[in-house]
Amino acid sequence: MSDRSLPEINWRVVFNRAAPPGLRHWGRVRAAQLKALGPALVIAGCGLLVNTLFTVYVLWGSVPVTKLAAWVLVLAAATLFVTYQTRRLGKREFHAVGRKAIDRVALYSLMFGCVWVMPIRYFFGQAGPSEQVAIGVMAAVMMAGAGFVFASIPAASVGFITVTGVTITHMLNAQDSGVIFLIGPVYMMAMFGFVFVNGRAFMQRTWLDIELEQKSETVSLLLREYEASDADWLWRTNGGLTFEKVSQRTARALGRTPEGLARMTLRELLTESRKADQTTRRAIAAALACVNRREAFSELLLPIEINGEERIIELSARPRSSPQGRFVGYEGVGSDVTEARRAAARITHMAHHDALTGLPNRLHVLESLEAALAEAPKRGDRPAIILIDLDRFKSINDTLGHVAGDHLLSEVARCLENIISDEMTAGRLGGDEFAIVVPAVESRDELEQMCLALIGALHGPFHYHDQRLVVGASIGVAIGPRDGDTVEELVRNADLALYKAKAGAGNETCFYDPAMHELSEERRRIELALRDAPEAGQLSLNYQPLVNTQTGQIESFEALLRWNHPELGQVSPAKFIPIAEDTGMLGKIGEWVLRTACKEAANWPAHVGVAVNVSPRQVQDAGFLVTLMSALTQAGLEPRRLELEVTESVFLELTGKTQKMLQQIQSLGVKLAMDDFGTGYSSLGYLRRAEFDTLKIDQSFVQAVREDDPESTAIVRAVVALAGSLGMKTVAEGVQTEEQLAIVRELGCDKIQGYIFSRPVAAGTARAMLGAGLTPDSGAERSAAAA
Ligand code: C2E
Ligand code: MG
Ligand code: MG
Repeated sequence: MSDRSLPEINWRVVFNRAAPPGLRHWGRVRAAQLKALGPALVIAGCGLLVNTLFTVYVLWGSVPVTKLAAWVLVLAAATLFVTYQTRRLGKREFHAVGRKAIDRVALYSLMFGCVWVMPIRYFFGQAGPSEQVAIGVMAAVMMAGAGFVFASIPAASVGFITVTGVTITHMLNAQDSGVIFLIGPVYMMAMFGFVFVNGRAFMQRTWLDIELEQKSETVSLLLREYEASDADWLWRTNGGLTFEKVSQRTARALGRTPEGLARMTLRELLTESRKADQTTRRAIAAALACVNRREAFSELLLPIEINGEERIIELSARPRSSPQGRFVGYEGVGSDVTEARRAAARITHMAHHDALTGLPNRLHVLESLEAALAEAPKRGDRPAIILIDLDRFKSINDTLGHVAGDHLLSEVARCLENIISDEMTAGRLGGDEFAIVVPAVESRDELEQMCLALIGALHGPFHYHDQRLVVGASIGVAIGPRDGDTVEELVRNADLALYKAKAGAGNETCFYDPAMHELSEERRRIELALRDAPEAGQLSLNYQPLVNTQTGQIESFEALLRWNHPELGQVSPAKFIPIAEDTGMLGKIGEWVLRTACKEAANWPAHVGVAVNVSPRQVQDAGFLVTLMSALTQAGLEPRRLELEVTESVFLELTGKTQKMLQQIQSLGVKLAMDDFGTGYSSLGYLRRAEFDTLKIDQSFVQAVREDDPESTAIVRAVVALAGSLGMKTVAEGVQTEEQLAIVRELGCDKIQGYIFSRPVAAGTARAMLGAGLTPDSGAERSAAAA
């Protein structure tokens, strides 16, 4: 329904037989009908009184007084009753009434009609001709009067008019004056028509009023809500751009008084914001240009200080013109978008930053790199990505808990922030992986220096409560555009470099080199092939003897893993063991080594031991002790004949748990050897923290000892002396020449392992060796045979 369209009201509705279909609130129209009756009834009462008095006067003499008196009494009672009832209905504050209430009024009207009119018909016969005319006129007046009195309730008029009309017809008919009696029905029909049209008009009017009232109620409700809320506010200026008709609300939103704002111009408001950043200043300049051209501008974000607080106001405006097309000012809306902006900024920040460290996250880092790569060609810059992976972070997390781990990551983040310069972006990619985007590399040297500084800083130690957290970092670097001109390529290549760096002893930086692709390809091939190696029977053990320096007797053999792949050929354990370790395959392979070596050693004479290499990760596995015991019992090997070799790297993760494990191994009677001593993180202090039975001096030291190199000799001598003082036996690894043999013997090493006696050989050869005994000379023959 359009705003003021009329409702469809038919006769059924007018005479209260139904409510108009599809219109709600018709009860309110009925209530209005009743209400309108009130004032009309007062007039009707007066008219009735005059009419009654006049009738009594006319009939006085022709009708007996008693009858007249009885009529007047009944009439008075009926009037009182009907007036009382009807007024009661009309007086009550009905919001809406049902059809029944209207019907009741109609019934009263009918009753009243009967009481008033019927006796008249009776008196009519007793009256003289002139009185009869007077009575007829009065009946007609009453009939017309009913039409007016009940104008608001056509249903009520109908009863009265019908009774009166029928009576008049009857009276006229009694006159025997031909068709004159037709006046009655015709007049009655005309009255019905009048009542219908009038009643319908009343209903329509009332309906429209109700509609309008409801609309304005809604509008004022909305307005009230709107005023109360912080939604938009309206403003306008005159042709000179001065604010005019300033509302409280607008003034308040702009942090001023209405009078103050009314003295200000739009231009002043726009140029007032001094603290704006560059983007905002540009937007304001654009808006000012629009104002100068008297054009519309929209969604201008204006920082404004209100009560010492920075707020952001959004303004939109369009020019107003006079009918002649002359510019007469601006009108616009404004709103305070501070909270919305802050929320949006928070969301953007969250989407781009790591919650734990507050550093940019992976997405942000990659976006920065992308931006740097896009800018680089224009300026001839070389952007770089530095990937940083923490060494030993996992063990800190596992042993000291996540809270300590989180603390460490935050410390690392602060470290990175301190080292990088302003134009670089340092971020956390996830886990213990960090990255730095360098938009323009000056020189590779400079980058190397920075990586060194990073490694130095990340070495720590960091502190968490009273714990010292020692980590380290491996770094991979790729420099664009040479190492890649897309984000993907550059990151992938930096990743390869990082991988290479991690393969080392830690705390290392690697710059990407195309050869790394081949390495990674090879690694992938090895990884795939290694999965099937144990089942395919491609693994075997070689044994290399450890000889007593003094007696020349074989004291034990070291079991060394061999992998012969049909396509890859012999793969060096130095190559595949780290891969097996990284991919979680070493557990299974290590178990096989342990069981096989124990079984083989059980065939040897009881004084000959076997040494098995175990990686630090194997030792840390909770199930290792069980595997160890089961391997010994299954093979029937005495625990004292088994020695486990672990490298120094075990100390880097030497937590309480590992230390306990090492002690438990020894408490089984199994011996422990420190392998490759002197290569990695050599700290003699480590040796005191776990009691090893044997110290194997790395071959790099042994091979360096020469008559003319007193320094290396001094180192070996010191190590031997220290081991002796701690009750450890010493093994010189990798002895190849007579000269080395003589020196280590002289230095007091207990055992010797090296090609000079024998290369690692197959199990059968090792067994044969035990029968024959060894001399340095036989080493060359056996080595040749083994090769
Ligand atoms: P490692 O435990 O230090 O083993 C000694 C390595 O030195 C062996 O290399 C051996 O062949 C080599 N070697 C012995 N004497 C000489 C010599 O006179 N001159 C030279 N140049 N080399 C000599 P291999 O067999 O290639 O093993 C390399 C490393 O792989 C081992 O070093 C060990 O750390 C690891 N490895 C071997 N087998 C296993 C295993 O079953 N489990 C684990 N976890 N690691 C193993
Ligand atoms: Mg070893
Ligand atoms: Mg070794």
